[in-house]
Amino acid sequence: MRNYNFWYLHGEEDSDGEDGDKLVYEEEVHEMDMKKVDDMVDMIADVYPHIANEREHNPNNPQEPNEDAKKIFKLLDDAKQPLFPGCDKYSILSFVVKLMHIKCMNAWSNNSFNMLLTLLKDAFPMCKTMPNSNYEAKKMVSDLAKDMRWHSEKRKNDRVLRHPADAESWRNFDNIYNHFTCDPRNVRLGLATDGFNPFGNMNIAYNIWPVILFPYNLPPWMCMKESYSFVTLLIPGPRGPGNDIDVYMRPLIDELKILWESGVDTYDASMKENFQMRSALMWTINDFPAYGYVSGWSTQGKLACPCCNNKTCHYHLRNGAKTCYMGHRRFLPLNHKWREQAAQFDGTKERRASPKQLSGDDVLNQLRLLKQMEFGKTGKKQKLLGQGIDHNWKKHSIFFNLPYWHNQMLRHNLDVMHIEKNVFDNIIGTLMNIEGKTKDSLKARLDLQEMGIRQPLHPKEVNGRILLPAACYMLSNDEKRALCQWLQQIKFPDGYSANLSRCVNVKDNRISGMKTHDCHVFLERLLPLAVRDLLPRPVSDALTELSMFFKALCSKILRSEDLDRLQEQIARILCKLEKIFPPSFFDIMVHLPIHLAWEAKVGGPVNYRWMYSIERYMHKLKGYVRNKSRPEGSIAEGYLADECLTFCS
Ligand SMILES: [Zn+2]
Repeated sequence: MRNYNFWYLHGEEDSDGEDGDKLVYEEEVHEMDMKKVDDMVDMIADVYPHIANEREHNPNNPQEPNEDAKKIFKLLDDAKQPLFPGCDKYSILSFVVKLMHIKCMNAWSNNSFNMLLTLLKDAFPMCKTMPNSNYEAKKMVSDLAKDMRWHSEKRKNDRVLRHPADAESWRNFDNIYNHFTCDPRNVRLGLATDGFNPFGNMNIAYNIWPVILFPYNLPPWMCMKESYSFVTLLIPGPRGPGNDIDVYMRPLIDELKILWESGVDTYDASMKENFQMRSALMWTINDFPAYGYVSGWSTQGKLACPCCNNKTCHYHLRNGAKTCYMGHRRFLPLNHKWREQAAQFDGTKERRASPKQLSGDDVLNQLRLLKQMEFGKTGKKQKLLGQGIDHNWKKHSIFFNLPYWHNQMLRHNLDVMHIEKNVFDNIIGTLMNIEGKTKDSLKARLDLQEMGIRQPLHPKEVNGRILLPAACYMLSNDEKRALCQWLQQIKFPDGYSANLSRCVNVKDNRISGMKTHDCHVFLERLLPLAVRDLLPRPVSDALTELSMFFKALCSKILRSEDLDRLQEQIARILCKLEKIFPPSFFDIMVHLPIHLAWEAKVGGPVNYRWMYSIERYMHKLKGYVRNKSRPEGSIAEGYLADECLTFCS
């Protein structure tokens, strides 16, 4: 990596009056000079030590090297061969790696790269052995990328949750599978998948679904980082795989089974020994629709909550033609006084206990009663017996083919990033009464009337016109203006958040276009300040508590007992919101926070289990698309080149 000792981007001028870029580049070349050719030789020896060592120690090796070994010998030769006779600064390999690094960093096209290679070869005929094209250049380095090194890190064991390894699910797995845990080098993996449009143009409906794996053995500062994640599958477009994703997953699951049962022969460079590396998949990370495809439990319809399972509390709003998910009093203690208050909630008393979190065995017991689905286009609409009434299973998830999957406590993660975004959108849409976003409308009020609750909010007919009485959660025009003006002026430290003021239109009193991270910052930091003086006390208190809940939940260091407290808090907060907002406010995303504290307790800190790093990674993959008619090919090629260079640099 280049150092930033010389602040050329911040206006510092160097004493010789040369321009900064050049100086830094020269520094880098100098560094390269120091390392010389030996680096590359060492690196290859690290990757293929058995072969490299053998060659060194036994130059008259009587055995014929196998195909793999031959390739590596070729690499070793390239690494030792000077770029041209008498050149001690660059070997062929180091020069090509350097050149490809510049190509990747500046997004050169393959064509321009080939032209440059041709020119270089033409102008410097002494560099005879230089590759002819990008293809050849890449082939030289791609052999290096086959294996990845990884590390397991010692961690503090003080009952504080800083890493998934501190949490219950990990420890539970350790207790059951001793033979796996006894070697700390065995890898625990997370899996994430999501679709994106490679053209960034919403007019063309096209979805590519990469499946990304990342090891959790790494210490916090490396875990979930781009360079330590890998794309294992690329499910081609144009249509997303939907429930058929299992068909594409099959090869991956088969490999994971091998990795679990027998493992693969791996060289540990730090301990200089070979061992059988095994791996286990811990969980998946998905947004809510993809959660349905991956887990097999449909996240739509009446029983949309996969955690409440067939105990999902749903209510059909006839006027709004929507299903709402309330019933959060079930999560309160059985003797709580709110359970008796019918009129302030949905008009009923609540006697039910909170639904139990299903274990993998419970799920298997449910699935045992259902037949296996056929995948693909079968022409007929398939529905499992009782779907939507007794259960919401669409299929048997392929992950249960993994022998240990039913013993994982947390198999699929609810994504906090999307939940925060949706909850915040509902809140701000309703407070600001944004058309299309607000959950409070004539239909919502008619539903209140039909349920016979909150009489003062029912629509009134005055002189033939229907009026909606003002509600306590709605801001007046003056209040909206005050909020917009406040947001416009707000300043954050550099790099903390994107510029929120660009989302505000003071003239029209509108807030729009907030990205997921903007919502995260607003919900956790600004919401309490924003509503404090604008809304009545019970409303601002409930929203402030919700904001504090998310802030505490997303903390990088968690304690088990704090999470128990958060679990109690979120039940109370959602009940308070039920008393304030109309039922249409409670779509499934507003319900899901009730399960987040439990998931954090079992899975560990949220930042190892949410989509932020995955979305960033997807964005990077999107950047690889050069050839618009072959998006999948471009991504695969760009990814491979990048992986090689990450490995070499
Ligand atoms: Zn639920």
